[in-house]
Amino acid sequence: MRVIYTITRSRRRTLAIHIKSGGVVEVRAPLSLGKSEIERFVSAKTDWIEKKQAQIAAPCELPPSRFTDADFELVVRELVKIWEQRLDVEVAFIGIRKMSSRWGSCTTKTRRIRLNSALKYCSRECLEYVIVHELAHLRENNHSSRFWAIVSGVLPDYKARQSKLRMLQWILNAQRGNQ
Ligand SMILES: [Zn+2]
Repeated sequence: MRVIYTITRSRRRTLAIHIKSGGVVEVRAPLSLGKSEIERFVSAKTDWIEKKQAQIAAPCELPPSRFTDADFELVVRELVKIWEQRLDVEVAFIGIRKMSSRWGSCTTKTRRIRLNSALKYCSRECLEYVIVHELAHLRENNHSSRFWAIVSGVLPDYKARQSKLRMLQWILNAQRGNQ
């Protein structure tokens, strides 16, 4: 598995990896160090990173939800409205419900999007990513490079958001396994 991480540069002299809450990987690097060197450093540490991430996910407890149900729906509607304009698309219906294996779905023919109600446990930025993803399907109904170009064009840090969601997915799966 390729590790997804964010890079924070500063006047430090050495490289360091920090696993933040939620299992997000942050690499702290000197200002001028090349990307390939950072990549090499991270791939050498893959095992260690995955072990740490698993330890973080291990308590299998859901984080407290960030939104009440009512707030969650409001935030969803607000974000959908913003991104309908930015992506120049129109959504006919937004459904929020429990989904077992995905964060969202989009039926392009009827312009319906459905969102997993467990997204209320994630941050606004992750929720935003899922909404952008589903709305982008109204422009490109597949996961082609054209689709990802739309997503990365409007959310350049979408991969970091994806990796946070993956952590939440682990916790949800582990919880389901415990029941
Ligand atoms: Zn998709």
